[in-house]
Amino acid sequence: MTDLCRAMPKVELHLHLDGALRPKTALDLAAARRWKGFDAPLSYRQMHRRLVVPHALASQKELLSYFETPGLLLQTEEGLRRVTRELIWEKAADHVCYCEIRWAPQLHTEEGLSVRQVVEAVLEESAAASRQTGVIVRLIAVGMRTHPLEQNLRMLKEIASFAGNGLAAVDFAGPEAESPDALEQEAFFFRARELGFEITLHCGELPDSAPRLAEQIRRLRPKRVAHGAGAAEDLALCALLREQDVMLDLCPTSNLQAGLYPDYQSYPLPRLLAAGVPVSISTDDPVLSDLSLSDEYRNLLRAGQVDLPALWRLNLDALSHAFLEEEEKARLLGWMKDWASNVPELTEG
Ligand SMILES: [Zn+2]
Repeated sequence: MTDLCRAMPKVELHLHLDGALRPKTALDLAAARRWKGFDAPLSYRQMHRRLVVPHALASQKELLSYFETPGLLLQTEEGLRRVTRELIWEKAADHVCYCEIRWAPQLHTEEGLSVRQVVEAVLEESAAASRQTGVIVRLIAVGMRTHPLEQNLRMLKEIASFAGNGLAAVDFAGPEAESPDALEQEAFFFRARELGFEITLHCGELPDSAPRLAEQIRRLRPKRVAHGAGAAEDLALCALLREQDVMLDLCPTSNLQAGLYPDYQSYPLPRLLAAGVPVSISTDDPVLSDLSLSDEYRNLLRAGQVDLPALWRLNLDALSHAFLEEEEKARLLGWMKDWASNVPELTEG
């Protein structure tokens, strides 16, 4: 069972570049800038403590504090390229065949890079790593809840020429409790759509966020939502997600670490599946949560949330909702189905 979690070709849709900065890479980047921004040089163990969540935290806000060090260090093309390369190679080793990587380009412009340079560096490196590993990658640019609308619109202007050139979609993220409403930045989503970007957004991570999520789905019409597990509490919202075919890109471990669920058994995946809501499974932040996608599958299997055939179906469904061109999608789907045709453990049941 364990081997199949790793061996099966997997699709991962919810993955943050800045949650994938390894401690060793961070040490190299920090040393290269002579520890600017740090009080003193750190040991490996100290850097690890800054980047990897040790246990369940009290809140989403506390979880987001782990992005401070990546934000400080990922301010050069070299750093952005390295973290991109390492993430894609790691996904290849875990047999992820398609992934979408997201990041907020504006957060990497504090030491002189332009949004354009940031996007070019990540796009080029991801194309190179994709050629070398065979992992198909599409990128998502994130607008920030904490930035004013004008700033997010400025980002769109700067990334417009990349639409459809590897940069497939636009997301919206940041601390939900402090600035909960994506509707205040409706113009960001409309403009992104006009430019040819697909739309997703972070929402519905916090308790009682179901009504807000429903309103955002109706008005912003995202194709997918990052998180949104709280929808399980609301049958009308489940029906809306099912009818509009809006996929929830779920990250159970990340939600547990944000203090939202006490354990894997309490995660509402079975309820969402029973309600017919399209869902996919991802790691969110592989280094921050010290988690591969196959680790996450094992967590869910052990907790009795799903069985292997269900995991396999979730992968096929994730691909059908991916921000990937239809032709590529059909080709990859054919290859995945071929792969599974000799593996009865995935297709029976
Ligand atoms: Zn996320």
